[in-house]
Amino acid sequence: MENNFDLIVIGGGPGGYVCAIRAAQLGLKTACIESRGSLGGTCLNIGCIPSKSLLNLSENFYKAKKDFNQQGIEISNIKLNIDKMMSNKDKSVQVLTKGVEFLFKKNKVTYVRGKGVLFSKNDVIVYEKNKKENYKAKNIVIATGSEVSSLPGITINEKNIVSSTGALSLTKVPKKLVVIGGGYIGLEMGSVWSRLGTEVSVIEYLDHITPGMDREVSKEFQKILSKQGIKFNLNSKVVSVKDQGNSVLVKYIDNKTSKEEKIETDKVLVSVGRKPYTEGLNLSKIGIKKDNKGRIEVNEKLQTAVNNIYAIGDVIKGPMLAHKAEEEGIAVAEILAGQSGHVNYQVIPAVVYTSPEVASVGKTEEQLKSENKNYKVGKFPFLANSRAKVNNQTEGFVKILADSNTDKVLGVHIIGPHCGDMIAEMALAMEFGASAEDIARTCHAHPTHTEAIKEAALAVDKRPIHF
Ligand SMILES: Cc1cc2nc3c(=O)[nH]c(=O)nc-3n(C[C@H](O)[C@H](O)[C@H](O)COP(=O)(O)OP(=O)(O)OC[C@H]3O[C@@H](n4cnc5c(N)ncnc54)[C@H](O)[C@@H]3O)c2cc1C
Repeated sequence: MENNFDLIVIGGGPGGYVCAIRAAQLGLKTACIESRGSLGGTCLNIGCIPSKSLLNLSENFYKAKKDFNQQGIEISNIKLNIDKMMSNKDKSVQVLTKGVEFLFKKNKVTYVRGKGVLFSKNDVIVYEKNKKENYKAKNIVIATGSEVSSLPGITINEKNIVSSTGALSLTKVPKKLVVIGGGYIGLEMGSVWSRLGTEVSVIEYLDHITPGMDREVSKEFQKILSKQGIKFNLNSKVVSVKDQGNSVLVKYIDNKTSKEEKIETDKVLVSVGRKPYTEGLNLSKIGIKKDNKGRIEVNEKLQTAVNNIYAIGDVIKGPMLAHKAEEEGIAVAEILAGQSGHVNYQVIPAVVYTSPEVASVGKTEEQLKSENKNYKVGKFPFLANSRAKVNNQTEGFVKILADSNTDKVLGVHIIGPHCGDMIAEMALAMEFGASAEDIARTCHAHPTHTEAIKEAALAVDKRPIHF
């Protein structure tokens, strides 16, 4: 009876562990199986958390070196201790992963260490070292996440040719780093190493960085990163990456001229996306279907083709983001407890944690155009925001897109200081179906960066005060 549960969650990442906690809160006898040896998944162990730790630490170093003197804070002999910086990051990870274990105990979720394999629609076998144990559940949630993708012919060896995982743990600051792929993970990791002194160049197949981002914001973003010293080779197709021992030779073709170019570098970060991870789960035997991108197919209730087995997070369609996985985890737990769990996919914010940050929620201008929607645009630059001005962080702007007829907010895109936090206000506004006028009439504290949001909302109706 001990191994008999109402719910077994396979995978202890933000999707899985949040689902398990919510299910236990709702009275379901719940177990969560995790093979990594620590809870928190990609996000806490090798993703969101260590990357944000390094982004914060490297930004402090960069500011101390470049900005402090001219702000009247005179420090000499600023030195980087990379070992200390890495152990600081590792400590943050450890505290948070242990924190999830504590939450499991507090909520009476059974934490099962090992690799879960589906044996039937109600049976999971867990393999841990040489041991094998059977578990039974009325319902199962698959939350096995994703793994790094590569390109044909490129072998990631986590030495000179690294994935994001390797880039989070380099033991020396490389002189040169080539980042293959101009998405958010590559740009965040590129920023970290660039601030610590590495010459960073990004090679991107498309003619713009951060695919899917509002194009005006993405252009501004590239301009700002270029000013920070990151080089961009857009419209370029990498054809080979060769680890030569002491260096790596990267060859790529310029898509416009068809000319082959090469760069010799110390390290290469392959950052071309992630793919769903379902290895060894036994999905086809159980009758669970995947789409042509390897994602588990689910219906609007997140149910797979087998009706008591659900799937959430990176292993299904939708943006590969921790908070999206969490929302799905909560929705499934509530559905299983007889409530009406639901995820609003129209309002999933996305943030790039560079400096400045980039944040968005809702539709981009390109999406609205392709849907033939009539929309109005309100924009406000941080240059005209008093708080940004006194803090010397004036790059970027807020852009609000609202329906021309109803004034309802359809999308918000911000590049600028602290916008990763500011976007929550816009997500809330959109959840409540706010109009630009609602935001414009909401009192925002002065002096804060959030006043730029109010001004952008006023600008939708062409009446900003400070611009
Ligand atoms: C460098 C980097 C930075 C990122 N930064 C951000 C960010 O700032 N914000 C954000 O929202 N997202 C970020 N992400 C993405 C985020 O980490 C993922 O979207 C999120 O972790 C997905 O959660 P998940 O629960 O679906 O899967 P995961 O977090 O991948 O967790 C799945 C877990 O399942 C386990 N598992 C797999 N198979 C089995 C099995 N058979 N049995 C037992 N356990 C199994 C795995 O070991 C893993 O721990 C980042 C990712 C990376 C790589």
